[in-house]
Amino acid sequence: MQAEIITIGDEILIGQILDTNSKWIAEELNKIGISVYQITSIQDDSEHILKALKEAQSNATIVIITGGLGPTKDDITKHTLAEYFNSPLELNESIVEQIKQLFAKSNYPFSELNRQQALVPTKCTPLQNNYGTAPGMWFEEDEKIVISLPGVPNEMKGLMQEEVLPKIQKKYTLPFIIHQTVLTYGMGESVVAEKIEDWEDALPSYIKLAYLPAYGKLRLRLSAKGSNKQVLEKSLKDEISKLQTIIGSIIIGLHESETIESAVGELLIQNNCTVSTAESCTGGAIAKRLTAIAGASAYFVGSIISYSEKIKTQELNVSKDLIKRHSVVSAEVAEAMAVGIQKKYQTNYAISTTGNAGPTTDKTDKTVGVVFIAIATPTGVFSKEFFFGKPRQKVIERTSNKALEMLRKEIIENS
Ligand code: ATP
Repeated sequence: MQAEIITIGDEILIGQILDTNSKWIAEELNKIGISVYQITSIQDDSEHILKALKEAQSNATIVIITGGLGPTKDDITKHTLAEYFNSPLELNESIVEQIKQLFAKSNYPFSELNRQQALVPTKCTPLQNNYGTAPGMWFEEDEKIVISLPGVPNEMKGLMQEEVLPKIQKKYTLPFIIHQTVLTYGMGESVVAEKIEDWEDALPSYIKLAYLPAYGKLRLRLSAKGSNKQVLEKSLKDEISKLQTIIGSIIIGLHESETIESAVGELLIQNNCTVSTAESCTGGAIAKRLTAIAGASAYFVGSIISYSEKIKTQELNVSKDLIKRHSVVSAEVAEAMAVGIQKKYQTNYAISTTGNAGPTTDKTDKTVGVVFIAIATPTGVFSKEFFFGKPRQKVIERTSNKALEMLRKEIIENS
């Protein structure tokens, strides 16, 4: 079963608002086993709406439209739908009553403009909007349906949950679609793809795989579609255990909400260990991520944003001579920073970062994008040099991801 989503609104096309309605609707449709074939955003323009609607109906069984139903917009969507379905508008008294009640509750005067919202095409089944004045509309023709909803997100969501989704589920026998995400760190997309090529080729036809890379991490999303939920769940479980045997060392978690920082936090708790950070080029970004997790006080002790040389020497005990000899962006300084914070805060582990996030190289001799990350462990300290390129935000994010990944590896090896 396929659906299309059409969002109407000049605001979307001029970049004033982001079309979050489509994202939400697509997610909800997926949950009940409906794939979205296409998403289109168009202007508040009758000709455009007719064109998009015709195309969407030729592609999909279900078309969901949002936007353009408000009283101030001259009801362009409604008039256009009346034209499309060759169905005149008629005043629906029960909608007039609903709108009046809604206004009475909030003590607003009911106007003629609001009465017009109760005008709906005769061929549609009106859908009760409990959060606003514009009713939703459900058209059914030749086993295909077109649903028109208001653009305001909470009105659209209310109508989807209370009216549209239950009606769709009642009308059609739908398959199940189950998604499972595998979060990996530390290996590029193409290397992972090569490693899991045989496994991917042998996947059952009802399981699809998608690669979703981001700075330093890669999410693998498996989507299983079929009529038997238990079979799908078991199949996904089996495929994931096979995947664990191939790339288990880089798998951080199996849930969409899991992150490298939450994985590190759990490991620290399991091992009864603590961590601190001394951050130069990341400016506290690692500490921020670690402390964003509830319960971080069990393992996170503190951080020093040692941005200037003065703070590196004064607070972390990095010698001026070391900085002079090796430069502030160097393996030696990174390691001295990590040891400095580990000693100062008496933690089992410590992370330090020093690098050139750019756009200029400041006083250092290293090119923009060069970063040193050091990890102090209960048994020693080591560092690695990286080149993370540009721009600044990317360097900060990749450094934070890599540092947490390095720490995770150390904790696992030391436990
Ligand atoms: P109403 O008459 O209740 O305002 P409407 O159907 O006329 O509803 P629009 O005027 O198209 O809706 O949009 C109202 C507001 O809803 C917009 O200003 C915007 O803030 C939000 N909105 C509209 N479409 C979207 C969308 N696709 N994604 C996110 N927000 C949206």
